[in-house]
Amino acid sequence: MKVAIFSACQKHPEIGVMQELTMPFKLNAYGQRLLLWLVLSALGAVLLARSELRQLREAFETDARISHRLLSQRAVQHEAVLATLALLQPTAQPGVADTAEQRLSSVYPQILSVQRRDPGSIWPNTSLVDAENASRQTQHAALANLDFTDQLGRYQLVLAAQPSSFSLLIDMSASVPWSDWSMPVQSSPVRVTLEQAGKVFVVQPGRVTPSGWRFEFRKNLASLSQPFELVAVRQVGWLELPWGVMAVWTLLMAALMAGWSAWQRQRNARRRAEELLRVGQVERLNTLGELAAGMAHELNQPLTAILANTQAAKRLLQDDPDELPAALQAMHQAVVQARRAADVLARLRRAVEQPNAAQPSQVVDLAQAVRNALDLLAPEGKRRGVTVSVQVVQPVQVLAERVALEQIVHNLLTNALQALDLVPMSERHLSLHIEVVSGRGVLRVADTGPGIAPETLPHVFEPFFTTREGGLGLGLSLCETLATGMDGQLIAQANAPRGAVFTLTLPMAPGP
Ligand code: ADP
Repeated sequence: MKVAIFSACQKHPEIGVMQELTMPFKLNAYGQRLLLWLVLSALGAVLLARSELRQLREAFETDARISHRLLSQRAVQHEAVLATLALLQPTAQPGVADTAEQRLSSVYPQILSVQRRDPGSIWPNTSLVDAENASRQTQHAALANLDFTDQLGRYQLVLAAQPSSFSLLIDMSASVPWSDWSMPVQSSPVRVTLEQAGKVFVVQPGRVTPSGWRFEFRKNLASLSQPFELVAVRQVGWLELPWGVMAVWTLLMAALMAGWSAWQRQRNARRRAEELLRVGQVERLNTLGELAAGMAHELNQPLTAILANTQAAKRLLQDDPDELPAALQAMHQAVVQARRAADVLARLRRAVEQPNAAQPSQVVDLAQAVRNALDLLAPEGKRRGVTVSVQVVQPVQVLAERVALEQIVHNLLTNALQALDLVPMSERHLSLHIEVVSGRGVLRVADTGPGIAPETLPHVFEPFFTTREGGLGLGLSLCETLATGMDGQLIAQANAPRGAVFTLTLPMAPGP
């Protein structure tokens, strides 16, 4: 049987089998909030990291373009110097160094020396000869004796001209315009190199880490004679991500979620208070009705007696002609008044005997009604240290008036909580059981309180019957009236081994 109950409940995981009244249906909400926080934190962290990487990339590309422009300008400057030399052919004797050529190094420190091949003379090595031939063909300066190592970057630039051809020996490291350079050369993480035919000259060492994100920029210098490829590389390591901002974001999200939770808790508490007020108001109205019904029931009998006695007195007076006709008239008035009072009470009783006549029955989920009532009383149960178990054997849809049903459950739970006040805290347990028996929806509310004495049991549904100090004795009477009004039934029994159990039976809603 236990297995059957459990497996039935597993089919409907939305219905908890064992739940603490102190926090009904709450664990899921905490889990969801935690998940939401994790997702928001991760999303924010990714966006922040991406934004940081985008900024780093933009800064890198700007620096790389500046480097490319500066080095290109220098290369073009070398071409211009050569062209000027060729144009202003030297006045010195062939083979003798011209003073203008000598002074070039002091103006352009990257130009280490100038060589000239006058007509009839030859270059000191074949590389220069080849370069001059190439220059003659291409009509622009040509490279010779390229010597690119890590530290040393030297090459010669040869321009074929008439009558004398010229060659510049250029020092690459002195060629970099450091004053205009956009990066701190020693500490910058960007590595800048110039590459030509597999040879590499390191302009700026940078810092290349093995992991992380790699930015790369490659572009030939804007010079036909020195088409070195400028390669800039920036490796962004994990440590460079904005961990501080990401942590602040995560904390902010946590604070936001906590604030949201607090706001939701407050809102729930407010809703619960409003609902309690509403239930209380309905309850008071219904209690008033029950009170009137009780009064009608109680007063009807004495009124009937008054009527009978007055009629008898009237007859006696009629039999004794000595009495004054005024007495006869007064007695007649009394009969009329008594009848009127009886009529009024009868009308009142008829009105309150069908308290839900105006409310149409509807399909109500019994477990949901129980959940609503439990939720309302959660703080009460928590304060009293009551544990609650809810067993839902199968979903039960009953045909009932929702408010009346919730009021019955609320009343039964309130009574049970009051009864549990009379036993030690560790023994306070409330169990609710929902199932279908013989085609009717059944809710059992059992407590482990002191129970109901056998001699008291037959009277608990009577109006004004109470054993509670300050009790009105109308709650159960009202519940029974409401249950009967919905074609249901409410019975009270002793709970084994102790306590009381109330069983509410209601008609099932027609199937879909
Ligand atoms: P009141 O709560 O005002 O006394 P009720 O009609 O709700 O009126 O209850 C009538 C009586 O039924 C209570 O005074 C109490 O003696 C008994 N009773 C109701 N519920 C329980 C319960 N769960 N355990 C023990 N006695 C109960």
